Amino acid sequence: MSLGVSRAQIYKFLPNFSQSVQHFLERDGMEAVKELGNIIVRYKLHSRLAVCLVHTHFSLTESEILVEAEEIETGVKISSPWKLEDNKFIPWSTTNRTKIHQTMCILPNTWIFQGNGDLNPIEFEATENEINDDSLFPKEFVSSLTRSYLMLKQFSDVSVLGIRKYSNKSNHFRYETSRLEERANCTHIVSSMDKIPASKTIPTIWYFDDKCIPYPDMFCGACSI
Ligand SMILES: [Zn+2]
Repeated sequence: MSLGVSRAQIYKFLPNFSQSVQHFLERDGMEAVKELGNIIVRYKLHSRLAVCLVHTHFSLTESEILVEAEEIETGVKISSPWKLEDNKFIPWSTTNRTKIHQTMCILPNTWIFQGNGDLNPIEFEATENEINDDSLFPKEFVSSLTRSYLMLKQFSDVSVLGIRKYSNKSNHFRYETSRLEERANCTHIVSSMDKIPASKTIPTIWYFDDKCIPYPDMFCGACSI
């Protein structure tokens, strides 16, 4: 399995769900989401990138990263900690049921802003695609994001917002749950908003149309630690 990913040590400093929501609501987070969305649309990346509310469901150790993979039996996407052993990342649980094999590689799917606006990967996915797609982040696009981040920092807590790889091209909605007995986030797909449990009504991913209108895609609820 090909590696070469940065270790997400920064993960341990991320807010949990309730902290992240509080910062987002108190500091005009939706305005910052729209501003970042404007830039994504301006560079015509809105079918590939979205804005997300960064939060954790559980903690990771120094040698772990969060990796999303598909569960064999259910097709549900599961994000769970993978740990570094012998210079390779392996799934945390020995009863791991996700669809992984040796030809897959681990690539970033979520980035956060740090310091002066540098984008750093914090969550990953196990994928068949062996190439880290640089076309997702053209140089001018990254410069615009950085400038915007520095401006937004003055009135909003941009540290709770991130950029997320986006590929939901159908009219589905997604919501997250945590499995209490495991350190794992499960992404469920439903056909309409009314099938999302009432407790999971806070959007955590927004995608954009070509008029820069934000639409909620992923929802999360009682997953705080
Ligand atoms: Zn969540």
